This record gives sequence, C-alpha cells and structure tokens, in this order.
Amino acid sequence: MRPSVSCFFYNEIIFTNEQAEKSAMTQYLSGLPNAGAYVNQAIRLVMAGVPSDYSAFYFDIRGFSRINRKYGQMQGDGIIRRYGRKLVEFIQKNECVGHLGGDKFVAMIRQERKDAFIAFLSDVVIEIDKDGSPEKLHISATIGEWDIERDEIDPSEIIGRPSLGLSYAKSELGTTVVSVTDAALEKLNQKKTVLGTYRDALENDEFIVYYQPKVDSRGNILVGAEGLVRWMHDGEMVSPGVFIPPLEQNGDILLLDYYVLQRACADIRGWVKAGLEPVVISVNFSRKDLADRHLAENIFNIIEESGIDKSLIEIEVTETVDEEEHGTLTEFINSLCDLGIRTAIDDFGAGYSSLSTLREFRANTLKIDRSFINTDDFSWKDEVILTDIIHMAGELGMDVITEGVEREDQLALVNNAGCHVIQGFFYDRPLPKEEFEKRLMDKQY
Ligand code: C2E
Ligand code: MG
Ligand code: MG
Repeated sequence: MRPSVSCFFYNEIIFTNEQAEKSAMTQYLSGLPNAGAYVNQAIRLVMAGVPSDYSAFYFDIRGFSRINRKYGQMQGDGIIRRYGRKLVEFIQKNECVGHLGGDKFVAMIRQERKDAFIAFLSDVVIEIDKDGSPEKLHISATIGEWDIERDEIDPSEIIGRPSLGLSYAKSELGTTVVSVTDAALEKLNQKKTVLGTYRDALENDEFIVYYQPKVDSRGNILVGAEGLVRWMHDGEMVSPGVFIPPLEQNGDILLLDYYVLQRACADIRGWVKAGLEPVVISVNFSRKDLADRHLAENIFNIIEESGIDKSLIEIEVTETVDEEEHGTLTEFINSLCDLGIRTAIDDFGAGYSSLSTLREFRANTLKIDRSFINTDDFSWKDEVILTDIIHMAGELGMDVITEGVEREDQLALVNNAGCHVIQGFFYDRPLPKEEFEKRLMDKQY
C-alpha cells in the first residue's frame, strides 16, 4: 500500500510530512539540528557510550553583530551557514553539533578531542565574497564548556551547564573559554546567593568584624589591629574571599565597607567607655569604592559622628596598575591626609608594586604582603629588596608592618630586614571582638 502523504501549506511553500518533520528538527538557516533535536542526539550519544567521555559546548561567534553590520544580513546569514558546515566537517561520527539560532551553537565532543575543538573554534576561516572578489574571514568563538564528570546527567544540563560558562566568559573581559566544573558551578551559585541575600544580611547585622592584632616584636606589645569582616550566614561563618569579589563586581561593596567602619568606630567607643586604652584600628576599603566621589568625606563624617578620636582609625587600600584608578587613589589618599585620617598601602609586594608608590602616596603605613615572605624560593636577592624597601619607607617617614608572619624563622627574617611590627598567625589570628578585648586589657604577648 502506498503510504499516505498529507501536505500542508505555509507561505506558499508546500511541505510533505517528512519535510515538515525534518524542518521541525533543524535550524532553518544552517540546516543543523535545533535545540530539541540536538539534545535528543546528544543524549543518545552519551548513553550509548560513557557520559564522562564527553565535553558539552555552548559557543557563539565573537563580534557577530559587527560582522553583520559590516557585510549586511544576507552575507551574515551565509556566514552562519558556512560556519555550520565547517563545524559539521570537524565533528566525528560519535559527536554531534547543533544550532540554537542566531550565532549560538552547541556541540558534544569526545573529551580527548576537546582541546583540538577549542583550538579549531579559535580560528575558523570562511571565504566570503567582498565586492566581487573573495576574502578570508577569520572567526573566533567565545566558549562555555562542561567536561561531564559523572555517569548520570540531567538532559537540561547538556545545554544549561556550558551556557552558564558562556555567560560567565562574556562577563569577564578578554576571557574566551570558561569551563563549568562542579566546583565552578558551586562558586557561581555561591555568588548568586551572596548577591541575592546581601542587603537583607546587612540589615540583619549578619556581618561582624573580627580584629587581628598587630604586635611590635621588640617588646611583644599590642600596637594596633586590623578589622576584618566575616559573614554569619545560616549559622556558618563565610570568609571575605567568598563574598567580597561578587560584591566588588557589582559595586555593592561600598555599603559593607561603610558598615565595617561604623562597627569599628562603635567598638572603639565602647572600649574607651569601658576604660580600656584603645589601639589604632585599620579598616579596608575596596578600590571599587573610589567610584564614590565623596568617599573621603563620608569616611571623615562616619568617624566624626561616632565621636572617637580620628587618629584611632587607619584606612587600608591596595595599589593599582590602572592609570586612571591610580590618579583617583592618589587624590583619595591626599584628601584623607588633609582631613587628618591615617592611611595604609595594603598588600605591598603582591603582584604589581612600584617604588613610585612610596614616592607618590602620602600614606602613613606600608603593609608588606605575606607573599613576600611566603615563597619557597626566598633568596638573598629577595632579602636585599625587602631590606631596601623597609629602609626606604622608613626614610620617607612611613611606618612599616609585615602581614602573614606565621613562624619564628619568618619573624627573624623580617626583623633582620628592619621591620618590627607584625600582623600574622605567629601572634594571633583574627579574633572575635570579645577575645580581642582581652588582648586590649593586657597588651603584653
Ligand atoms: P587583607 O586586608 O590583606 O587582610 C589580611 C588577610 O590575611 C586576612 O584574611 C587575614 O586573616 C590573613 N592573614 C593574616 N595573618 C595571616 C597569616 O599569618 N597567615 C595566613 N595564611 N593568613 C593571614 P581575611 O580576613 O580572609 O581577609 C582577606 C581579604 O579580604 C583582606 O586581605 C581584604 O583584602 C579583604 N577584606 C577583609 N575585610 C574587608 C572589608 O571589611 N572590606 C573590604 N573591602 N575588604 C575586606
Ligand atoms: Mg587589609
Ligand atoms: Mg593585606
């Protein structure tokens, strides 16, 4: 019996059942499988083998809107079609590729060919017609990628996971490939939690300030402390390394830094009231906070309103490579200096540091970073540099403190180099306020 062939009309085009079925599964422009068909194929593939043999990709063409503008939409469509064909040429029998529309593509590639695929995507060459003569167009992609790590996967993860990687890659300037491992996913989720619950947490006083003592090793006397923020979230203490980077990214860190300063001022006031002799407390301000043009003035007002002596607060900031930021930072430090508020250059020697920092900034204190003394290959050359920096800072009228001193030998090394004020686990970890108060009562170590 002849199979029945029913037809339907759409915009004057006649489809057979078979064609209609095919068009429902393919992307009209490239002819590649569309989202639904791709997921089906991918599931079949990975289930026929071992899922953890595969990497799932989600990628788009860098600067495609620019290409479209330059060559026009017709040529743009042609470029997408030819790009799709190049992808098909690359994949092997046990791999698959799909086109989600626009310049967005997906692929399931065997893990041993993952690096080759990434290299391939970094430069796909397409011949195009430019005013009648052929021209070579080099196309690179921004890529989200997921190495499947287990043998049970949810179909939604096949596109969902690498797509998270792609959106992350796009949010970080200059990044072309982001792998979404289980650990990375947890970090992304953490970031979402931080940003979603931060304002409530601030209102509910979930942020608390710990104090890490600074000790003058010449007489083992407490001479100061750094206020370091902690987040008590759902009964767990979250460290700044987790929540500060996302807050810095969206500019929300400013509210937290003002809050920490207020808490520190209130604590100092409490100590004075209780008859304890306070020490200088340093508080960190993120470089992102410099976007607030009234930062120095607001800091001054917070300290004034608390009623404490302003010489009891020191503001810590880190240096920067960015020239524009450098200018703003100089201005900020100068303003604080004019307002009679102490400043410190934090993390000196971590990554980028320049001697001009010592010359240009009117900061009161130089904090030598722990990475300076925490290297396995600390050589006599490092010692000479450290000694000279400490000497120079001293000659320029700055106080010097070294962070991250954990052991006796590190203490000896730093002392030999001429620095005697120490902040590090060797003396104390960051302490809750009540613990720190005990140190204030008896400053002797
Ligand atoms: P930081 O300002 O350089 O603070 C010193 C960090 O080194 C602290 O980490 C402290 O616990 C750690 N540390 C001190 N001594 C030692 C040591 O001997 N060994 C080791 N391994 N670590 C030591 P923490 O509290 O986790 O803070 C990390 C960073 O987070 C701080 O580095 C600072 O950049 C930032 N941060 C902390 N509180 C605030 C805040 O209120 N506002 C802003 N903007 N940033 C903050
Ligand atoms: Mg600091
Ligand atoms: Mg530091």
